[in-house]
Amino acid sequence: MAATRTFSIIKPDATRRNLTGAVTKMLEDAGLRVVASKRIQMSREQAEGFYDVHRERPFFGELVDFMISGPVVVQVLEGENAVKANRDVMGATNPADADEGTIRKTYAESIEANSVHGSDSEENAANEIKFFFNDDELVG
Ligand code: ATP
Ligand code: MG
Repeated sequence: MAATRTFSIIKPDATRRNLTGAVTKMLEDAGLRVVASKRIQMSREQAEGFYDVHRERPFFGELVDFMISGPVVVQVLEGENAVKANRDVMGATNPADADEGTIRKTYAESIEANSVHGSDSEENAANEIKFFFNDDELVG
């Protein structure tokens, strides 16, 4: 099967606790390859734009505040069935519901500060990659 791509964010709760490497290791151990990566401070406008689908949800304001509370690491991951492989290793949104061995079970602090984002479809992955990366930053 051909390799596909997905988009990942290591969230501020994880960068704050110096877990960038530990989280990336779990992604790599799940068969995903980091083909682009950069540490950025998101602006409020960027965070609001990225989470636009959640604008009407009650937690939107807090989520945006959290996502700009410190640096994040945005990454493009490549591998077989990358969207699903990443979602599987991330675990459930709420760490209390996440399976043993997942990133969120291992590291997440709460349903909001849950250490990682991962695209939920190939279509969203392509859009999210474009939101943060230029083509010449995808070096393979
Ligand atoms: P992500 O999109 O970050 O990969 P997800 O797809 O598992 O996570 P979504 O339902 O898309 O979860 O929610 C997006 C993010 O919003 C969650 O990762 C979490 O940080 C936050 N969030 C979701 N539900 C809640 C909630 N009930 N209270 C506070 N924050 C929440
Ligand atoms: Mg989501």
